[in-house]
Amino acid sequence: MSGLLDFLKDFRWLLDLLDIALVAYIIYRIILLIKWTRAVQMLLGLAVILIVYVISQATGLYTLRWLLDNFLSSIILVIIVIFQSDIRRALMHVGRNPFFADLSYREETEVMEELVRASVNMANKRIGALIVIERETGLKDFLEVGVEIDAKVSSDLIASIFLPYSPIHDGALVIQQGRLKRAGCFLPLTQNPNVSKALGTRHRAAIGLTELVDAVAIVVSEETGKISVVVGGRITRDLDSTTLKRVLKRLLEPRPAKKKST
Ligand code: ATP
Ligand code: MG
Repeated sequence: MSGLLDFLKDFRWLLDLLDIALVAYIIYRIILLIKWTRAVQMLLGLAVILIVYVISQATGLYTLRWLLDNFLSSIILVIIVIFQSDIRRALMHVGRNPFFADLSYREETEVMEELVRASVNMANKRIGALIVIERETGLKDFLEVGVEIDAKVSSDLIASIFLPYSPIHDGALVIQQGRLKRAGCFLPLTQNPNVSKALGTRHRAAIGLTELVDAVAIVVSEETGKISVVVGGRITRDLDSTTLKRVLKRLLEPRPAKKKST
């Protein structure tokens, strides 16, 4: 043990190097994590505060300096608060949750076909729907409200859930591990000012959720009978059944390493 300590003392510079490399890597990961536009805004804000701080120091504005001193000493806390949603998204990635983990290839295909059938049926009847399919990031945070179902994915069941007189037609239906898990879930609405004014809260909820997690959302519009798929905060509107099937297959197909052999 003492031999190891002596060795470490001799190679103190090596530890320093490791130390710096680790911090550099952490900062690099944080920069990757943060949405670039918000990071730039934050850096500009910080720059202004730093300039005011330096001026207050040089001119002897003690109270202002005291205030900024305290603010800057808790800057890490401030950064955590500003970027809480990005940090949460990154941490949720740690608990990976492979999609359709327990299903065979045939069952996966069936689930996708039922989803397409349900969406097309509801679109034809102008029944509004919002279906969220969990992928790698867990959706636990969004499942507190709503009603637990835990049923096999079937187009008839989905359509009945979203019938206007159904007590659970409001909100989102969540699919986890290839099963209908919960209905009536409340999702966060997007804050993106560039989203078209033509899109109401159902579409905004789908965009808002997928900005935070990697889930896929299918939205059927009650007003227009159009089917949209939303992923990564981006919406593709007016899909027909063939395109919907193709899009879902591409988005939900497990990565080759996870694929089952059945
Ligand atoms: P549509 O084209 O179907 O009219 P829309 O995008 O115009 O959809 P609204 O008309 O506002 O949206 O749809 C309201 C429905 O959207 C609500 O009845 C509810 O079921 C659903 N909804 C609204 N907000 C949320 C939310 N935050 N999370 C989940 N579902 C929501
Ligand atoms: Mg509407």
